[in-house]
Amino acid sequence: MDLPEIKILRSKEFTKKLIKAINSIVKEINRPVKFMHVCGTHEHTISKYGLRTLLPKEIEILSGPGCPVCICPAADIDKTIELGKRKDTIITTFGDMIRVPSTNISLAELKAKGADVRIVYGPNDAVKIARKNPNKEVIFFAIGFETTAPLTGFELKSDPPSNFSVICAHKLIPAALELLMSQSLLNIDGFISPGHVSTIIGLKPYEIFSQGYRIPNVISGFEPNDVLLSLLMLLKQVRDKKYDTLNEYSRVVKPEGNKVAQNIIDKVFKPVSSPWRGIGRISEGGLAIRERYQEFDADKKFDIQIENSQDIPPGCSCHLVMVGKLYPFECKLFRKECTPLNPIGPCMVSMEGTCSIYYKYHE
Ligand code: SF4
Repeated sequence: MDLPEIKILRSKEFTKKLIKAINSIVKEINRPVKFMHVCGTHEHTISKYGLRTLLPKEIEILSGPGCPVCICPAADIDKTIELGKRKDTIITTFGDMIRVPSTNISLAELKAKGADVRIVYGPNDAVKIARKNPNKEVIFFAIGFETTAPLTGFELKSDPPSNFSVICAHKLIPAALELLMSQSLLNIDGFISPGHVSTIIGLKPYEIFSQGYRIPNVISGFEPNDVLLSLLMLLKQVRDKKYDTLNEYSRVVKPEGNKVAQNIIDKVFKPVSSPWRGIGRISEGGLAIRERYQEFDADKKFDIQIENSQDIPPGCSCHLVMVGKLYPFECKLFRKECTPLNPIGPCMVSMEGTCSIYYKYHE
């Protein structure tokens, strides 16, 4: 399929054409179809522009585990909190992360009690803080998928000061999708795959879905018409029963991905079995720091043991929301006890969290 120029992609006329084509193919398929995206930014586009309301009722779009803040295990947050209680530490992490509820308190509550917890835009800021504060241990709580892991890796490779270390909670998206598919947890007709992550990893890691599980996969951009065009590309494959990994976001994503970033990830980290909040342990679902850089691995440096962490608070259904089994408004706490100002579960915190997006855009 020829992809349109950006000017056409952004036009209302193109939206109308896409909706017409989608309706026509859905009639040919003649059954309900379910697709899942795995990116909070996609849910944001879909909800903000009301794309579901434009689609025929036969199409359902589910939200998958695509919010890095939401799937970060409580045990890692608890560990960071324990380190933050020490007088000689400065904890640094991304803004969304500090408000995420954990077993007892969040990093924001720890900060309110006097701990030195700072929001940074990236690990380079954390390294700068470490250089300015040689008498403190500066710990960067590294979360995120393949998109943010190269940034952490780059800093670890770039001779950071000895008082800098990382709690590595980076996760790998394809492994999580494969777990969900292999355990038949998803009953879906295809994936709308994340543009940001794909910029780094390229197309190859997704081939397992078309070849092994015989479902289509389209890597999608984030404009409303990107998402509609990706749906059309998925529907055509469902209709023709020909399954492939297609790249709707080719203006940004190269088939081979970003080799420089991949190299950094390979050099600094190794894939390991890793827990995802609300989903469980996933084989090769996360990254650990390689031995060569272990002096900067906070796990090795501080040996903090955490027991009995609680991923999902009582009454919260984030574990179901994150795998598309429940819509946020089906959780009994949604808009009542649980709001963005008083989040009970992790999905209500970040703008990439499904509950938080539904709170903002869905009455
Ligand atoms: Fe959890 Fe709140 Fe979402 Fe319910 S509404 S699933 S309590 S985050």
